[in-house]
Amino acid sequence: MSVASLAPEYIRSIMPYQPGKPISELAREMGIAEASIVKLASNENPLGMSARAREAAVATLSDTARYPDGGAFALKAAIARKFDVRSEQIVIGNGSNDILELAAGAFLAPGRSAVFSQHAFAVYPLASNAVGATCIEVPAKDFGHDLEAMAAAIRPDTRVVFIANPNNPTGTLLAGAEIEFFLERVSSDVLVVLDEAYTEYLAPGQRYDAIGWLKRFPNLLVSRTFSKAYGLAGLRVGYCIAHPEVADLMNRVRQPFNVSSIALAAAEAALADDEFLAQSAEINRRGMVQITAAFADLGLTWIPSAGNFVTFRVGDAAGVNQALLRQGVIVRPIAGYGMPEWLRVSIGLPEENARFIEALRQILAN
Ligand SMILES: *Cc1c(COP(=O)(O)O)cnc(C)c1O
Repeated sequence: MSVASLAPEYIRSIMPYQPGKPISELAREMGIAEASIVKLASNENPLGMSARAREAAVATLSDTARYPDGGAFALKAAIARKFDVRSEQIVIGNGSNDILELAAGAFLAPGRSAVFSQHAFAVYPLASNAVGATCIEVPAKDFGHDLEAMAAAIRPDTRVVFIANPNNPTGTLLAGAEIEFFLERVSSDVLVVLDEAYTEYLAPGQRYDAIGWLKRFPNLLVSRTFSKAYGLAGLRVGYCIAHPEVADLMNRVRQPFNVSSIALAAAEAALADDEFLAQSAEINRRGMVQITAAFADLGLTWIPSAGNFVTFRVGDAAGVNQALLRQGVIVRPIAGYGMPEWLRVSIGLPEENARFIEALRQILAN
């Protein structure tokens, strides 16, 4: 009997995460120059990172023989100041994927269940399965979370509910009042993980103060990341704000040095660069108009998105995806999310968006 066959069944049945195709891989496969490739597949910031974050990252390089500050004192202090919370409420993760796994590791186990929505972020089932918990996937409503159905799906053994707002890959947004109503209804012995990976992109009228709710709901965890609007996806850093007792448990299962010194320094500088954040949101807002106007022009259906990406229906998504790849444009097929007729495109720079639109136009004309 092979050693692999002895891994728990809940591990062996995990479906691997399907990442966006790296530029280098497509360049190798197609024999084309990396510089000619447009990657709009992983919701990365097309502006890159802020100059201030870059400076901080570079300044840290000389000290990388040392372990990072495992307690992330400076970054936590900056987050605590910015959001008016205490450092004891904060957990720093190696990306917010790490945060999601830490929450699952601290609160889920075989015999316990997690509730999340159909078409929600793929890491929720991954993180839940990895610790042997049961996954309860609740049918979506108009591609978004059906909070009423999710509340009804909670069982006595449910310990975690995952909510992505905005959701990836559908871009759907719940109003703050809907989430607040959900929190009021859900038993306080269920941890509600509110994943706000794209919250920095919300328009002023869409915003709500989840961190402010923490005073009323000790079972709430608000997760954020530096990977999207802050442009630090490659450095891997995210965080959550929760009740100090929840944060304490997560910090116990966390790797002692889970975030590099370079990432910690860059994140701290990025957090202070409001101008870069505003610029990122603005270029996203304009790119969203550019791309959805083209969809309308092409007669395509799309799901209105509050994030830095938009999901659109093409029918033969696998075929259109292949054709886009041949033109050096990488988008994300989302068949794995139960949406085999749809593709997700990240909003890029105006010229990248134009490349995508032109390629799509040609493909659909054939
Ligand atoms: C991108 C994304 C994340 C963040 O991933 P990182 O690990 O922080 O890079 C978390 N949640 C959702 C919904 C996402 O789309």
